[in-house]
Amino acid sequence: MKEEGVARKIGFSFHDKADLLKEVLEEYGDMFDIVQLELNYLDWEDPAIEAHKFYDLCVEHDLDVYVMEPLKRGVIVNPNDEIKKDFKEFNGEKSIASFAIRFCASLEHVKIVLSGMSNMADMLDNCDTYENFEPLSKEESEFLDKMAQKLADNLAVPCSECGYCVDACPEMIPIPEYFNLYNTSKNQPESNIYRLYFNKLCDEKVPADECTYCGTCLDYCTQKIDIPEELEKVVEHFQEGSAHTVKKPSFLIL
Ligand code: SF4
Ligand code: SF4
Repeated sequence: MKEEGVARKIGFSFHDKADLLKEVLEEYGDMFDIVQLELNYLDWEDPAIEAHKFYDLCVEHDLDVYVMEPLKRGVIVNPNDEIKKDFKEFNGEKSIASFAIRFCASLEHVKIVLSGMSNMADMLDNCDTYENFEPLSKEESEFLDKMAQKLADNLAVPCSECGYCVDACPEMIPIPEYFNLYNTSKNQPESNIYRLYFNKLCDEKVPADECTYCGTCLDYCTQKIDIPEELEKVVEHFQEGSAHTVKKPSFLIL
């Protein structure tokens, strides 16, 4: 396609372990120009995700990197109040999203950062970040390392909401939606609203307790989460005082 002038650059997106990326690049690295990776400062040193290793492998093979999930599907920009306060005290003029985008865009081989924008304010903030782009300083990098650690400590389930598990689940449980509610609820324990959202989600879609523990989703999870085990915790978390009645697996009823 490049020879025919149809494509200028060819690449692929990757969601697996660094060992497999290494194998792919050793075998086929010469054919490619780009690898699209999930990169953000929360996953950077996470041993379960290996984002830093992915990036280093691309550098080793002189490939460009296009970034997906710089905000980890909103996890980074929706932290608890303590983390929000830390950012405000560090630099109240810049948004949390702008730090996350600059983290990615400061990496030399990163050429594009795909940031999801859901409204005009996000768009203007992103434009401002790039128009006045400055690579992260050492002080800022160290600050983000600390925030990543704090976020990781507070995150109940490190779900990136990619949705691959939902397509794989025979019961069609909206897994990331449950994990998102769980994470948000854990971050704001004083609020009861998430229990209502949980009940609503159970009523409108497939209830979280309909998991049959078949394990199909495990092979699809990009974050290597033990989904059935975590779903059980989600149900337990919201169960107390919930109007939703948790169903028992049928073999137990029999
Ligand atoms: S283990 Fe549960 S969540 Fe995973 S695919 Fe099976 S039913 Fe769905
Ligand atoms: S595959 Fe894993 S990371 Fe992706 S939505 Fe499902 S639980 Fe979350």
